[in-house]
This record gives sequence, structure tokens and C-alpha cells, in this order.
Amino acid sequence: MTDLPANITAVAHQIDAEARRRRFGHQGGVVWLTGLSGSGKSTIGVALEAHLFAAGMNAVLLDGDNLRHGLTSDLGFSPDDRRENLRRVGEVAALFAKSGAIVITALISPYSEDRARARKAANGQFIEVYVAADLDTCKARDPKGLYAKAISGEISEFTGVSAPYEVPTAPDLRIDTTITDLDACVAAIATEAKVRFIGDMSA
Ligand code: ADP
Repeated sequence: MTDLPANITAVAHQIDAEARRRRFGHQGGVVWLTGLSGSGKSTIGVALEAHLFAAGMNAVLLDGDNLRHGLTSDLGFSPDDRRENLRRVGEVAALFAKSGAIVITALISPYSEDRARARKAANGQFIEVYVAADLDTCKARDPKGLYAKAISGEISEFTGVSAPYEVPTAPDLRIDTTITDLDACVAAIATEAKVRFIGDMSA
């Protein structure tokens, strides 16, 4: 937790992370998917949520595009707005994780500093997954037609075209979706999530 503002006192809870772990059969945590638009974050996020849920885990996907209808509907794509977007989603993901859920986030999250802040908000209960695909592949996929619009100048500040993407230097997992099919991507992340968040339940 960051330093509290003046006149705010932290409230102590009776229910702690260990009680939640015993109730749910796993710890709470965040699986943070980062990568270029079209790299596969949403596709993997949807499939991973279903996979972990079927395996008995309380998994929930927070997709950046969906959140922009509510939590972050007042924000655009300037560097400052992107930072605030990620700050909010990082804090919400950390709250969900604190409630015992496995939160999957799917946002481009182009800046290393913002990803590091999200990791810190989650108190280290965090798996950063770099969903890698080269720019040419993402442009060719263009699932939402956004690259075409960015290249023609219809939309500005588009990551990979007119805004930067800082490639993760030390992600917990790097998955190249140009050579790994969807099922294998999901299996690799699910394995890591189970190791990290289920661990040894006999303890
Ligand atoms: P993002 O959320 O990163 O913007 P999307 O998931 O919306 O990307 O789009 C990714 C596109 O790439 C989809 O059309 C999807 O079917 C395709 N795709 C091809 N191979 C993969 C893969 N291995 N994992 C995820 N998506 C893939």
C-alpha cells in the first residue's frame, strides 16, 4: 500500500489472504497480458478465463476495450491517459486479486513503468505475460481494422504505428502467437498460473 493521505486510517480486516486461499483452493493473483494490438491478448484472455474456470478456479477477465465503456470511459490514448488507464485497471485488478480471484487483464499496456506499477499494486501476486507478435503480422491480422485506420491517419497515437510500445525485458512468460497456436498459448499460461497461485494446497 502507498503512503496514506492525511486523516485516512487503514482499516484492519478479519479475513486474510490465507483464509481466502483455503476457501477457494487457490490464492488470488493477476495474469497481466501485454502486447501490440492484434497480438492475441483478448483471444487468449477469453480462452484462458474459460480454461481456468473449468479447472475450478475463480478466474475473471478484465479486457481493456470493455473497461473503456465504464471504468475508463473518460480517458483517451495520450500518454497521460494511458498511464491513468493502467493505474486504474492495475488497482482494480489488485482489488479483485485480494478478494481471491485470478484476474486476467488484456490491455496493450505499452509502458514498462506502468506494468511495473501494476505488479506493485498486486503485491507481487502477478504474472506478466508478453503476448508477442511482430508488427507485420499484427497489421495483417488487423482484427478490428484499427491498423488500417491508424496508417491512413484516421486514428492517432496508435501503438506500433504512431505511439511507442516498450517490449518487456523480463516478463514472467513470453508467448509468440505467430508460432504457438491458441490452445498451446492458453496451456502455457494456465500451467504457470497453477504453479504460482495454487501451489501446494496441503500446506
Ligand atoms: P489483441 O487483444 O491483442 O488486440 P485480438 O485477440 O483481438 O488481439 O486479435 C488477435 C487475432 O489474432 C485474432 O483474430 C486471433 O484469431 C488471431 N490469432 C492467431 N493466432 C493466435 C494465437 N496463437 N493466439 C491468439 N490469437 C491468435
